[in-house]
Amino acid sequence: MRDETDGAAPGGIATRGLAAGGLRRLLTLLGRAFRRRCPYCGGSGVFRGWFELRETCPTCGVSFSREEGYFLGAMLVNLLVAEGLAVGVVVALMITSDLSLLPLEVVGIGLAVGLPILFYPYSRLLWMAIDLQLDPPEKQTQRQLRADQIGR
Ligand SMILES: [Zn+2]
Repeated sequence: MRDETDGAAPGGIATRGLAAGGLRRLLTLLGRAFRRRCPYCGGSGVFRGWFELRETCPTCGVSFSREEGYFLGAMLVNLLVAEGLAVGVVVALMITSDLSLLPLEVVGIGLAVGLPILFYPYSRLLWMAIDLQLDPPEKQTQRQLRADQIGR
């Protein structure tokens, strides 16, 4: 049985290699996000440098420009993952080492500042992956996501 969609609808965006739903689809989406690839097609080169997400995917042409406030969820993902990791490392150090308060503070502040910067591009792609998993685009929305069809 074939449960993957290679190039959804005519005129729609490609969702290459994505299962129709379920855990397999989620794992594919998360894998693409952690490899900094397009959640829709798995194509690379979606960032210009470390921070700047291109307006469209160079492989499938899906538009990454979304409505205002769309990437607020990415900020939440970034905050939860990066700060959770920073707190986890500091707590693990408190439990397993004899470090005094000052080194723990230095490590904690360094991680609390550095991890969100490092994790920033991943958080944007993770948010798109979560969105694509929870709310797969209908054919109408797929047409709207095509950058070449919205005049860009
Ligand atoms: Zn793509």
